[in-house]
Amino acid sequence: MAEGGREPTNRDLMDCMKAMRCNVENVSYGLTICAERTALVKAVSEGHRKFKAIAIASDLANKTISPCGACRQFLVEFGVSWDVIMTKPDMTYKTMKTGELLPLFHQHL
Ligand SMILES: [Zn+2]
Repeated sequence: MAEGGREPTNRDLMDCMKAMRCNVENVSYGLTICAERTALVKAVSEGHRKFKAIAIASDLANKTISPCGACRQFLVEFGVSWDVIMTKPDMTYKTMKTGELLPLFHQHL
């Protein structure tokens, strides 16, 4: 029931759709498959289940690359204490444990 006690008309629905039309973007790139997840899926498909480390590289100038939120969840589901090596183009890097990157990860499986 629309406001005022009447059934919504097509005009009401169109006005509602116009009001909702927006594009909310996020750096997580929801439907893309990042290299981290691709690497893990490939490894799992070949029978690997335990990992010691993963290195992530990019050509981002002066920035250390780090996994997106989806990849952090994916990585931590294979353990909280393996290394994620995050690099910069100048060959410097920072290492963090998977559990450090996503301490409050989703655990309901
Ligand atoms: Zn990712």
